[in-house]
Amino acid sequence: MQICRFNDNRLGLVDGDKVKDVTSALDVLPAQHYPLPTHDLMIANLPHVREAITTVAKGAKSYALSDVRLLSPIANPGKIIAAPVNYKKHLDEARADPQIHHQNQIAEIQRVGLFLKATSSLVGPSESVTIRHPDRRTDHEIELAAIIGTRADRVTREQALADVAGYCIGFDITVRGPEERSLRKSIDSYTVLGPWLTTADSVADPSSLDLRLTVGGEVRQQANTRDLIIGIADLIVFATSFYTLMPGDVLLTGTPEGVGPIKPGEVMDATISGLGSMRVEVR
Ligand code: MN
Repeated sequence: MQICRFNDNRLGLVDGDKVKDVTSALDVLPAQHYPLPTHDLMIANLPHVREAITTVAKGAKSYALSDVRLLSPIANPGKIIAAPVNYKKHLDEARADPQIHHQNQIAEIQRVGLFLKATSSLVGPSESVTIRHPDRRTDHEIELAAIIGTRADRVTREQALADVAGYCIGFDITVRGPEERSLRKSIDSYTVLGPWLTTADSVADPSSLDLRLTVGGEVRQQANTRDLIIGIADLIVFATSFYTLMPGDVLLTGTPEGVGPIKPGEVMDATISGLGSMRVEVR
C-alpha cells in the first residue's frame, strides 16, 4: 500500500497516477490529550488505519497525483536519525574533497555512529528546499528512508526489519562547513520525505533498491542500497543499542557518491525503485 499526505493535511491512497482521499480513515486514531505522544500517531496505529483506508477507498474522491501538493508522509516523527558516510564511494569522495570534509576527520560509520536531525527540518516534496546560507556550499543527498513502525529497544538483527512500517525517498540536505552535522543538516526544509509511504509488505527487498537523483535533468547520484556499508537491519540494531525507537521515527540510511551543490531555481528529481519519484524545487 502507498499512503500519502497532501494539500491541507489530507490522507491519500496512491493508486497509479491517482490519489484517493481517504482522510476519514484517520477517524480510527484514538483521541489525544496533553501531553501529546512523542511519536507519530498514524504510524503507531497503522494496521487499523490501513483497514479503514481499504474500507473508505471504495467511494472516495479521486485526484490526479499531478494536481496535488505532496506533504511529508510522516507528520510527527519523534526522531530523525541519520547515518553518515554509509557508502564506501561516498566516504572516498568526502575524504578527497576539502569542500566536503572541511578539515573534519571523515571516519567510518562504524566509528562515528549515527546523528540526529531536528524534526523541524522536515518538509514534503511540494514545500521546496529553501537555501538558508547562499554564501556557503549546500549539497543534495538522496537516501533510502526507513520508517520505524513500532517501539523497538535493543532489537536483534533477525527482528529488525519486522519493526519497519515502510520506506520513503529521503533527502538529507547539507550545508558544508566545520560545524557538527546535527547543526548543518537541521536547517528548516533540509529534510525532505516523499513522495509517499510505501508499506514494508510492498517492498520485496529493501537491500537492493536503485536510487537516482538528477538536478536540472543531469544525473548526479545513482546507486543501489546493496552498497550500503551498514545495512538497514544493522542500522536498527545499532540505533536501538543506544536508544528506543518509536513509531514514525525516521531512519535516513546514508547517501551514495555524487553529492554536489544546489542553488536557488534548480529542480531535483529523485527516484527509488518501487517507492516512486518526487520533484523538489530549490529556493
Ligand atoms: Mn546524509
